[in-house]
Amino acid sequence: MNIVCIVCPNGCCIEVNRNGDQLEMSGNLCERGRKFVEAELTNPTRSLTTTMRSNSEIMPVIPVRTDGEIPKDMMFDVMAVINQGCVKVPVKCGDIVVKDILGTGCNMIATCSVNI
Ligand code: SF4
Repeated sequence: MNIVCIVCPNGCCIEVNRNGDQLEMSGNLCERGRKFVEAELTNPTRSLTTTMRSNSEIMPVIPVRTDGEIPKDMMFDVMAVINQGCVKVPVKCGDIVVKDILGTGCNMIATCSVNI
């Protein structure tokens, strides 16, 4: 199986083979690629970047992102929470708009400031 590493812009195509309990890999330029593949095969995670409704008349949606990576299989559940939420302005870039979303340990934070 081939997995493209997305840790850095090199985008190494890593060939992965199982040999008993061992994973044999080739094509990764660094050790981070091995860790990425191991995580992809056990508990893949991603950052989530999206928008959230706000109570601002000027900017009715505000860009937000997680401040860490959340399990891929929780993306739709997290989006359901985001879609029901509303950011109250004023908000500053980096402010937490949803704390510890669904117990993931990650917060949703605003990625822009809105004063009006
Ligand atoms: S294996 Fe290393 S160099 Fe290659 S994409 Fe992943 S992080 Fe970048």
